[in-house]
Amino acid sequence: METQKLAQRRRPGRAAAVVVIVLAGLLLITAAVLALDARHVQFYMSGGTEITVPRGEPYEEPGVRAAAVGRLTGESEEDLPVLVRGEVDTGTMGDYVLCYEASTMLCRYSAERIVHVVDRTAPEITLLHSEDYMPSWLEGYREEGYIALDDVDGDLTDHVEIEDRGDSRVYTVTDAAGNRASAVRQLPYSIGRPTLRLNGAESLAIDASFTFLDPGFTCTDARGNDLSAYVRCEGEVDPAAAGEYTLRYGIENAVGERVEATRTVTVRPLRNPDVVDPDGKLIYLSFDDGPGPYTDRLLDILAQYNVKASFFVTCLYPEYAACIGRAFREGHSIGVHSASHQYRRIYASEEAFLEDFEAVQALIREQTGQETRLFRFPGGSSNTVSRFNRGIMTRLSERMSEEGYVYFDWNVSSGDAGGTSSTEQVLQNIVDGCSARRVSVVLQHDVKEFSVAAVERVIIWGLTNGYSFAALDETTEPVRHRIAN
Ligand code: ZN
Repeated sequence: METQKLAQRRRPGRAAAVVVIVLAGLLLITAAVLALDARHVQFYMSGGTEITVPRGEPYEEPGVRAAAVGRLTGESEEDLPVLVRGEVDTGTMGDYVLCYEASTMLCRYSAERIVHVVDRTAPEITLLHSEDYMPSWLEGYREEGYIALDDVDGDLTDHVEIEDRGDSRVYTVTDAAGNRASAVRQLPYSIGRPTLRLNGAESLAIDASFTFLDPGFTCTDARGNDLSAYVRCEGEVDPAAAGEYTLRYGIENAVGERVEATRTVTVRPLRNPDVVDPDGKLIYLSFDDGPGPYTDRLLDILAQYNVKASFFVTCLYPEYAACIGRAFREGHSIGVHSASHQYRRIYASEEAFLEDFEAVQALIREQTGQETRLFRFPGGSSNTVSRFNRGIMTRLSERMSEEGYVYFDWNVSSGDAGGTSSTEQVLQNIVDGCSARRVSVVLQHDVKEFSVAAVERVIIWGLTNGYSFAALDETTEPVRHRIAN
């Protein structure tokens, strides 16, 4: 009985110990589980941790969710309440920090978001315009003014950059935050671009003469102003030189815009008749001492006007000997002048003269395939330079005539052998000389460039004044001087 009681008393004591042990065990397990679980707050931030908001626009909080999360227990089903600290003033640029807080297991957790309030507004450009301003094309556009304002930087007018692009002017300005604005003005002066109209045909053909009157042009702007005085003409027409000419008319305004027009003028050579009237007014052009460097050009001019002339040739410039052949084939007369043109040698004796004469004749034969019966004495038949040999000119003129040769002097001297070296004077001398007689034999030297330069005008003058041109031949009534030795 006694022992049974004892045993009965001891039983509850043991049970309590077991309970304590079990509880302690449970506590330990719970602590271990909690430690392993590492429960904390997880923030879910919509919109990211950095947000940019344009100045002046309302800041709309994208929202933050917070949840308790454990490694073992996972995420709690219900969100935790979130406390937001901080404010954003979108009226003032700057960086604002928003702090989000939530607690779990008596611990407080936080997260941050930065909100950048920035200037996204471009400046505004206002182009000024005055109704009564009408730009002129010629002077160019005069800026009417502009204003550039920025909500942050204020007046940016001084920072506006201007660029002209053809018919428009572009204004640009950038504020401190890099916002760029631009405005475009259609330049009204382009609308007023003038017209440049040629009077008469764009392509003119005129006969060679001494005058050319440009029919001109009319230049008016869109408002009807006469701008002709500002038109410049490039190029010139020489009406006394056959060929093609281009006249370029242009007007340019202050900004380099050009309006242009072009005219071509053809100066047509006149045409000497194929058959000349022997009783009419006649000019025999004759050229001594060549051929030389200008003979080809001379032949070109003669060919253009269908003028035949006479060449009394020498052997002085052998590199141009081919001109003798060309002149012959083109219908000009070829006569002997002198091989050496040295009076002392030529007029030393009749034999010396004939030897010199034959040298030229050989060159003519070589170039033309035939001999000539025409010649001109060096210095002319009236020369006195041969007086060192008394009577040589008398003897030579008789002997040469007997042998069937015909010599020609001249009755119009161009003066190009020493009297003048001016093309104008050569022309004047010939015009004066020919005007005074019905039949003229003109003396020129085709080794003188300034003299050759007068020939085209001599021809134009002759043809427009009733003269015809012809080449000397054996049947021509010779023009001769009085022999003076
Ligand atoms: Zn001569």
